[in-house]
Amino acid sequence: MSHELVAYLGVMDAGKSTLALQYHHSLGGDGVLYTCQDRSGTGMISSRIGLSHEAREVAPDLDVYDELADLKPSYVVVDEVQFLQAPKQINHLADAVDGLGIDVYAFGLKTDFLGRLFPASARLLELADRVEELPVPVRCWCGAKGTQNARVRDGVMVFSGDVVEIGDMDSYTVLCRKHHRAGLA
Ligand SMILES: [Zn+2]
Repeated sequence: MSHELVAYLGVMDAGKSTLALQYHHSLGGDGVLYTCQDRSGTGMISSRIGLSHEAREVAPDLDVYDELADLKPSYVVVDEVQFLQAPKQINHLADAVDGLGIDVYAFGLKTDFLGRLFPASARLLELADRVEELPVPVRCWCGAKGTQNARVRDGVMVFSGDVVEIGDMDSYTVLCRKHHRAGLA
């Protein structure tokens, strides 16, 4: 039986953490759940609808392949995959699929607030067997499909700052491409 590396990449608020937890539950709950810099702090996956679950934190120096070779889980679910070290830790995930025979489901943001691919998301797009959209449609204020994360301060789009601050909902919103490019939040 062949195994898969599946990427679920999208914008903020598209229900990725909720879906990650739902996968973990429906696959039996005995796999490994990873997160990286979740909004609730290390070692937890929390979704905006209030679900949360303990998870293993992917530290920057973790050899994910070695850990999975030890743990031998039946599957792996990764949330906040955009924050993994690229290309190294994404390569580990792909190698776990091929070398250890594990299905890996990776959830995360595709692009940062400047519209650039996160390095880990770029590597995941390169290696994934399948790339899926997140199931919850998010709308721009104009009603068009929201495809871009924008950083907003006092109603005005901001074009600088630390990418890792993404997840602070007070200052982020989702826009369509047209309004992201025009800077109209
Ligand atoms: Zn718009």
